[in-house]
Amino acid sequence: RAQAPGGARRRRLGVMGGTFDPVHNGHLVAASEVADEFDLDEVIFVPTGRPWQKLRDPVSEDDALSAGKRAVSHAEDRYLMTVIATASNPRFSVSRVDIDREGFTYTVDTLRDLHRVHPDADLFFITGADALESILSWQDWRDLFELAHFVGVSRPGYELGAAHLASYLRTLPPDALTLMEIPALAISSTDCRERAATGRPVWYLVPDGVVQYIQKRRLYQAVSAENPGTS
Ligand code: ATP
Ligand code: MG
Repeated sequence: RAQAPGGARRRRLGVMGGTFDPVHNGHLVAASEVADEFDLDEVIFVPTGRPWQKLRDPVSEDDALSAGKRAVSHAEDRYLMTVIATASNPRFSVSRVDIDREGFTYTVDTLRDLHRVHPDADLFFITGADALESILSWQDWRDLFELAHFVGVSRPGYELGAAHLASYLRTLPPDALTLMEIPALAISSTDCRERAATGRPVWYLVPDGVVQYIQKRRLYQAVSAENPGTS
């Protein structure tokens, strides 16, 4: 393990990026498992600003809705749900770097900003099998691997280390990416939103405080003037 000058060991920080609309127990288990396996001091959850994967074109929210694309919930609601979900774990924290940055969220900006805030830390970017694939195929992954070690975790329904990923893997520096099996939780934010919208339970899929926050703010209900559901 690298020693900083003066003998103090470099801090090891996990970075868990996501839309978190809402945050659910699959995210929390992924962060907890990677923290244990990689001996991390802390995992920083980073809710996205405008997620480029989910709303790829710089259209207005109205255009997005009429084109049938989903408007992402207000950044402040997603941020607060993430704070509520992580509050009880002393090694979990939440960063506003992405929601406070203008424009679409790119992982490379997230990692650069976090290096600025934590100049003497090593970063471990945690991502599920599905997101790993889109990050590697859409962004300049050579830059990304200089900024963080990547940890790809298993997710039910997605193949970890699929054939086309394997072709990337062969071209990567040897310690750029680790693939890791974690306990399978077939939970997605999409399913949680659909459940909330149709009055089905989200208990035990998301932390209790998040269930209560969704109810209190009436998130994921049918679009109305009071709750336009835009970010
Ligand atoms: P949506 O359905 O809106 O896409 P999601 O459940 O995929 O939501 P995201 O916020 O998109 O959640 O995901 C953030 C990160 O967490 C991604 O890297 C994703 O792969 C990972 N992730 C989400 N759910 C799981 C899960 N059940 N197991 C493992 N990883 C997960
Ligand atoms: Mg997703």
